[in-house]
Amino acid sequence: MTLVTTDAVVLHVQDYLESSRIVRLATREHGVQSVLARGARRPRSRFGSSLDLFASGVAQFTMKPGRELSNLTGFDHTRSRMSLAADLDRFAGASVIAELALRFAHADPDPHDEAFDILGRSLDEIAHAPPDTSTESALAGAWRYVAALGFGPTLDRCCACGVELVADRVAPFSHQGGGVVCAKCVRTLPVGRDLPADARAAISSWLANEPVSPLADLARRAHLRLLREFLHHHMSDGRTLRALDGWEARLRRPA
Ligand SMILES: [Zn+2]
Repeated sequence: MTLVTTDAVVLHVQDYLESSRIVRLATREHGVQSVLARGARRPRSRFGSSLDLFASGVAQFTMKPGRELSNLTGFDHTRSRMSLAADLDRFAGASVIAELALRFAHADPDPHDEAFDILGRSLDEIAHAPPDTSTESALAGAWRYVAALGFGPTLDRCCACGVELVADRVAPFSHQGGGVVCAKCVRTLPVGRDLPADARAAISSWLANEPVSPLADLARRAHLRLLREFLHHHMSDGRTLRALDGWEARLRRPA
């Protein structure tokens, strides 16, 4: 049995028996961990409200080889991010980032320091985004997270032959190839859809941590579709990404 102390973010919380909770944590050193917070639902629990969804803190838990559920012994809460629960757009975007971490952070045994930092930073950005731009912040966070796990799309040059592509033109995008494709290679790779120059510029800016102007509704929906298709090709294990589907359905609804 090993006692672990690590930075962590609460990704999912579920009631367990009468007084406890099972919490899924993204951790800096140990990927995604399921931990049992005994007594967390009791009024005077030592965990208080520290285990709220999307909160960050320093978690302490005991890991046993072969056991899927570890015992959470402490959670020193450093950031609550309550505003994510207070607004449906923010909540939908934050849930997608949490879903990416839940689904993919543990797929690789290497600790992904950068992805862990991007997870926290993206949740902060969605929480503090100006009104009506939390969707753009969440899209930016999702692409950065994907890139930190090593699946970032190629946008400035052909993903097959490497030739540079002019920035101000529409470019065919190949999910299979993982990026835009030049006119020559377009015959050799399956191409999903054409990526307009402004959409390509937006994703490049997000990946470079540059601010992007708010998108029109149609452009938002096109970005969501592209992200969903990309994740499906590159990272999916066949299961649907429910938070992503819910986010997309929400954007399709008339305001
Ligand atoms: Zn090419």
